[in-house]
Amino acid sequence: MASQNDIRLFKSLTLYIPDPYYWLICRTCRVVLSLNRFPTHFSNNTHLYSRTDCSRLIKAWILSEGPAYPFKIETETDLTRWPLPTDSLAPIPFLPIYTAFHCRFTNPATGLRCTRIIMDVTGMEKHCRETHGWRSSRPVGRPSGRNMIRPKKPPWELNVPCQRLT
Ligand SMILES: [Zn+2]
Ligand SMILES: [Zn+2]
Repeated sequence: MASQNDIRLFKSLTLYIPDPYYWLICRTCRVVLSLNRFPTHFSNNTHLYSRTDCSRLIKAWILSEGPAYPFKIETETDLTRWPLPTDSLAPIPFLPIYTAFHCRFTNPATGLRCTRIIMDVTGMEKHCRETHGWRSSRPVGRPSGRNMIRPKKPPWELNVPCQRLT
């Protein structure tokens, strides 16, 4: 028999995001938790619960709420396999919204745009170089006045709203 106190505590710590996600989100850290990460997450320096308590909480919750609220994210691997949206969609409730850079390259075979969204410009430059063979037109070395090449429009879009899962 699952303890009602455990279930109440579990619900105060996490938020369940139903269909089509079936995710569990930490209310404090606002990240998606896989089932197997729950004990590690709630025994960390932010939450300070014992691992034993964490295991008891999740068992209680699965026992009483599991049938009505199934999880689809058992492990971190399930989370990385979650298909990234190719179109913009309504924000996922409760996860913070950031602005980032979205790659503009398209796959010549499928015509689909690259789904890569990266928060920092250095990371995006690296992605474009390594994945799409892009070369920056920025001159290498010290700019010397008249030889400066004006940078072409970069192959990414700015200020794209996005969300992070972890
Ligand atoms: Zn947390
Ligand atoms: Zn790309």
